[in-house]
Amino acid sequence: MEYGDGDQQHNGLSQKYDCLLFDVDDTLYPLSSGLAPKVANNIQDYMTEKLGIMENKVQELCLSLYKYYGTTLAGLRAIGYKFDYNDFHSFVHGRLPYDTLKPDPVLRNLLQSLPIRKVVFTNADKAHADKVLNRLGLEDCFEQILCFETLNDSTKGNDAVEDEEAAEVFDINEYSAAPNAGISLPKSPVVCKPFEEAFEEVFKIASINPNRTLFFDDSLRNIQTGKRMGLHTVRVSNDRNVLL
Ligand SMILES: [Mg+2]
Repeated sequence: MEYGDGDQQHNGLSQKYDCLLFDVDDTLYPLSSGLAPKVANNIQDYMTEKLGIMENKVQELCLSLYKYYGTTLAGLRAIGYKFDYNDFHSFVHGRLPYDTLKPDPVLRNLLQSLPIRKVVFTNADKAHADKVLNRLGLEDCFEQILCFETLNDSTKGNDAVEDEEAAEVFDINEYSAAPNAGISLPKSPVVCKPFEEAFEEVFKIASINPNRTLFFDDSLRNIQTGKRMGLHTVRVSNDRNVLL
């Protein structure tokens, strides 16, 4: 993130907001750290190695699942795969080169100087969020970390999904090719951004008033939902941070 400076800005912020809500990945550290493509590769490896999905199908499948379900994990569950969530997370995040993340004392000082509650809201698991925050030197800057396990029961990855009759996997690419053909998209049991339900849960759990909260995220669709839910928003991007 890039930051403005000055006491004036701080005072203005604390009058307008009583909570700052932050995404983690590619928001608290720059996209240029290179973690994002590593995560994507690990997800694809998980799909081929652990779920037996054909290598030549994986990339297209990932795109469709991300598009319709927010995360690949949520999508895989929706279309009928069963797997241990902790196993998925440790496979995908366990091999990441966290040492590419460096402490960010400027962000740390900025966060600590603001007399406003700070809360993390990420789709990632707790272990990953903790590791990232530790590497950035921000581990004690947030009042709460709301993550995958906050919104989902991590023991339910092998449960049957609602309405799931057969062991057959739903063909999301066929759906994607003709989304109006009358086939209905199966629902995912996973609660995550960018869906409103996830934001509603987070507002309840952390007692957040969206009208008094500034939300930072790099994902446009998360920002769009956030705005619809009444949050003030900052889209964090590589070039500059945009107040939307
Ligand atoms: Mg992000």
